[in-house]
Amino acid sequence: MFKKILIANRGEIALRIQRACRELGVKAVMVYSEADRDAKYVRLAEEAVCIGPAASNLSYLNMPAIISAAEVTDAEAIHPGYGFLSENADFAERVEKSGFQFIGPSPDSIRLMGDKVSAKQAMIRAGVPCVPGSEGELPDDPSQIRRIAKTVGYPVIIKAAGGGGGRGMRVVHTEAALINAVSMTKAEAGAAFGNPAVYMEKFLQNPRHIEIQILADTFKNAVYLGERDCSMQRRHQKILEEAPAPGINRKLIERIGERCVTACKKMGYRGAGTFEFLYEAGEFYFIEMNTRVQVEHPVTEMVTGIDIVKTQIMVAAGEKLPFTQRQITISGHAIECRINAEDPYKFTPSPGRITTWHAPGGPGVRVDSHIYTNYFVPPNYDSMIGKLIVHGDTREQALARMRTALLETAVEGINTNIPLHRELMVDAKFMAGGTNIHYLEHWLEQHKR
Ligand code: ADP
Repeated sequence: MFKKILIANRGEIALRIQRACRELGVKAVMVYSEADRDAKYVRLAEEAVCIGPAASNLSYLNMPAIISAAEVTDAEAIHPGYGFLSENADFAERVEKSGFQFIGPSPDSIRLMGDKVSAKQAMIRAGVPCVPGSEGELPDDPSQIRRIAKTVGYPVIIKAAGGGGGRGMRVVHTEAALINAVSMTKAEAGAAFGNPAVYMEKFLQNPRHIEIQILADTFKNAVYLGERDCSMQRRHQKILEEAPAPGINRKLIERIGERCVTACKKMGYRGAGTFEFLYEAGEFYFIEMNTRVQVEHPVTEMVTGIDIVKTQIMVAAGEKLPFTQRQITISGHAIECRINAEDPYKFTPSPGRITTWHAPGGPGVRVDSHIYTNYFVPPNYDSMIGKLIVHGDTREQALARMRTALLETAVEGINTNIPLHRELMVDAKFMAGGTNIHYLEHWLEQHKR
């Protein structure tokens, strides 16, 4: 096992990784920007290094600063968390070239999956079902683009090969709008992701977003830890997640899980990863793979009892996966609500000083958050300030626990989306389970205020 790891992230995930390190008896070096100097997890750290000013591009995205922090503190490995540099193949490569272990897959795996066109092609080769669409990047010739769209069938969605975070996508309903939509998405993709390549997929009308969590070691062992349902989205961004996915036949999950495991073995994938699928009419369609720990990993931890972050560190240290597929069982139901510092209905960010923070508790309740009373939410980063996770024997019990937990939670001084979560937890359709990816947008439309 490593003696010391550097955590190249901030906020709740930095704290989550710090906790895993403590349990493993590994020293954790925290890095922080000037805006995060007072964060409790930084204060609690055995070692902490300032890597630059508040702006992410000067701190959490600053590769030389992070690598020198690892050098001066004698860390052996770097955990990138999620977001920031976690899916940057060049960073992973620089980390390894500088003599540190990158806690994640190889730079080649990140690169392959980071380009959604090459990722889809790899999945097709590995026998993972994909959304029908253009075979690769769209050509420049408008008549060829029109021909592809006709074969795929309208509506189609134009997606950036280098896209992420729900950005770089455009739905097209008619041939008249096609060419303009392609050029606009290309221009945006070039500006936002430095890669103007786009591809086309059939736009599925009413799918659910279902994803499979996998873990793999360097001895060609790989397992899947069941699925998560992340269909409750606004602007392609998840706001709450659950495991297992209500109403999906276990046999179907097993079949797709096994396909993912086979794909991992074929790719020589190591570490944690997530295969994201759209699910419609009993079929799974791969959309992308995330080569890092996900925000919603706790729901899987709650139903499997497996610590995903600790396992990431263990396999990066060259250990074998400590369990086989047969030893993995799903028990009960877990739900996660992302707590964002934002207006609950207008979604405008609400940074600032938290004057009161009261965390919920009781059986089956978990809070992953770095905030505290008097904590200042900096305006420079993502608005997520924590996650509330509950577990119950049944989905009904988990819902009841989430309602109680949301009732107990108090955040004052800033706006949060807790009122929205409270309403969703008593919404009849959500309570029934199995809502699709458009449900929340429609609900928000109907509940406009
Ligand atoms: P990102 O990397 O930006 O998250 P994804 O490819 O994972 O992009 O897609 C994000 C979301 O966009 C999905 O969860 C889904 O809501 C929607 N989406 C993506 N592709 C399609 C499609 N072919 N049909 C319908 N919705 C889609």
